Amino acid sequence: MGADVIKHISEAINRINICGKRVAVQIPEGMKQYAAEVIDLLKTRGAQEVFLFIDPNFGACDLKDREAKELGANILLHFGHNRFGRITETEIPVIYIPITLDLNIEKILGVLEQIEGKIALCTTVQYLPYLKSLKKALGNKVAIGRGVLATEEGQVLGCDPGACNTDADVNVIITDGIFHGVLARMQTGRKTYILTPAGKLIDVEPHVERYLRQRETAKTLAREAKRVGVVITTKRGQMYRNVAEEVAKHIRESGAEADLLVCDYFYPEYVEGMPYDAYVFTGCPRVPIDDYTRFKKPILTVAEAMEVWKRDTGQ
Ligand code: SF4
Repeated sequence: MGADVIKHISEAINRINICGKRVAVQIPEGMKQYAAEVIDLLKTRGAQEVFLFIDPNFGACDLKDREAKELGANILLHFGHNRFGRITETEIPVIYIPITLDLNIEKILGVLEQIEGKIALCTTVQYLPYLKSLKKALGNKVAIGRGVLATEEGQVLGCDPGACNTDADVNVIITDGIFHGVLARMQTGRKTYILTPAGKLIDVEPHVERYLRQRETAKTLAREAKRVGVVITTKRGQMYRNVAEEVAKHIRESGAEADLLVCDYFYPEYVEGMPYDAYVFTGCPRVPIDDYTRFKKPILTVAEAMEVWKRDTGQ
């Protein structure tokens, strides 16, 4: 995979005019091993200076165009993702460079053909270019929908499984992880499979049950909280200040204290020793779920918080 990624990066860089420019770069975690190659390629192509952001980056919701401008960069290259729906304007020109990974189309087609009923077919940005040929081969057996925050047809994000919301009997998501499938199953209520790039079909149902148990535990514990930290992230595409204030209002009306806490990343270490019995994270909905076990106190999504404290206030 390494050589493919480097080839892809190199081709993408060759298409961009960076000669004489100060270039800011964001790369996802999985690409950090190629950081030196990226910088060398940019310099070979005439970049005057390169600024590489090393903060963890999980999506184009976390665009660093403002910081890049502060650094005096003329352009920001954002690798690994395409544009995030909430970000329509940027401080400096931004070029998104998604990385396409290999997919054995024949194998994937063979699995899809065996599935009964009409399929809502979607995938993550790494496999998006293959959707067209899969649709062409399978015709009306598949339907491809469109999400809200994801910008391409058939694309799912961890915060937007909306591409599955189309007329079909079953959801199939081509990806490595389970999370998108759990969300799609929750949102559409229909049978959902993850189809891994290696061609393995995984029914997400057992994962949904585990997810629901975890979330019920979090909500039950949060109901006992006397003081809640409602966390706002400053990441561009994840900042929901109004929502955070609304959540805090509901909590206060239910009789508990609620404070607004602000950070970029929400690491468990940041709140060690702080006087909170529970947290609501108003940014990426994956944080309360993926990082649940890393926090010593329950951490809820916005939807869960509204459920917990609305119930308490009898609304
Ligand atoms: S799931 Fe989280 S990290 Fe991914 S695009 Fe959505 S908000 Fe950003």
